[in-house]
Amino acid sequence: MEKKVSVVIPMYYEEKVVQECYKRVKENLVKIENYENEIIFINDGSKDKTLEILENIAKQDSNVKIISFSRNFGHQAAVTAGLQYVTGDAIVIIDADLQDPPELIPEMIKLWEDGNEVIYGKRKSREGESAFKLFTAKMFYKTLNALSDVEIPKDTGDFRLVDRKVVDTINSMPEHNKFLRGLFSWVGYKQIPFEYERKERFAGETKYPLKKMLKLAADGIISFSTKPLKILGLLGMFAIIVSVLLLIYAILSYILKLNHLSAGWTSIMVAITFFAGVQLTSIWIISEYIGRIYDETKQRPQFIIDKKINL
Ligand code: UDP
Ligand code: MG
Repeated sequence: MEKKVSVVIPMYYEEKVVQECYKRVKENLVKIENYENEIIFINDGSKDKTLEILENIAKQDSNVKIISFSRNFGHQAAVTAGLQYVTGDAIVIIDADLQDPPELIPEMIKLWEDGNEVIYGKRKSREGESAFKLFTAKMFYKTLNALSDVEIPKDTGDFRLVDRKVVDTINSMPEHNKFLRGLFSWVGYKQIPFEYERKERFAGETKYPLKKMLKLAADGIISFSTKPLKILGLLGMFAIIVSVLLLIYAILSYILKLNHLSAGWTSIMVAITFFAGVQLTSIWIISEYIGRIYDETKQRPQFIIDKKINL
């Protein structure tokens, strides 16, 4: 039986990109001999012409499938949905904006045929991205790896080819707020990096403003680490030590009659504000975790599908 390669492509306001994206991906899929192919586009609540253009493509090519969300649920949810509908033996996840070149898919398939189960794209260089993006990305991977219990390869996004087995494993996990690149690393199997040069966006603007990046970073850190909770303990200990020192200072200055009213004032104020700070920080970190536990317990779906085409 012929093998099948599936490609998952999330789209959010990508009307300028859709046609070119389809063309380049398809071109490279048909190059792979003896393989059937399928492309699943996820319209993540775009209200521009993205869906319309996709529907036209799907009319002419029945191997193009569309999942359209009822609203914007985010990149990770879009990819998660795509993974639930793919039928291929090898599955490629790629961005719509052609920053990850589809020309690499045939080479990735070769690596997969050699028995590798996760072939993850590792950015050798990044073209056309702002210094701010590069800096925040670097800080993100540094913090994540310092805090996290699994090794998450740096300079790795969601561009990768994975085996059916791995997708089945990911699909069997019920967790919300999936941080896919972390989960793909966490599940194990035979993994290899695949170095490539990340290109400039084909058209349009980034769909990842700072707010979405921060949400992704928080999901990454919180779902892969409990260390922030332990840091609270350290912060508490530090606060206790500082307060003991303050106490000793207060007693000494009383005994040695150095005690001025103003000095007493200062130590009380320092102690109060310091503790308030430590407590508020602690509550904030704990509530980030509790908020996510709350999300999971509500058991709401991770996305709502409004429309399916060719599926
Ligand atoms: N995307 C999405 N939903 C969102 C934000 C982004 O499906 O809420 C898609 C977007 O269309 C693109 C991919 O996720 O295919 C990566 O987004 P983008 O290229 O804007 O991010 P960047 O490369 O700037 O990090
Ligand atoms: Mg991009």
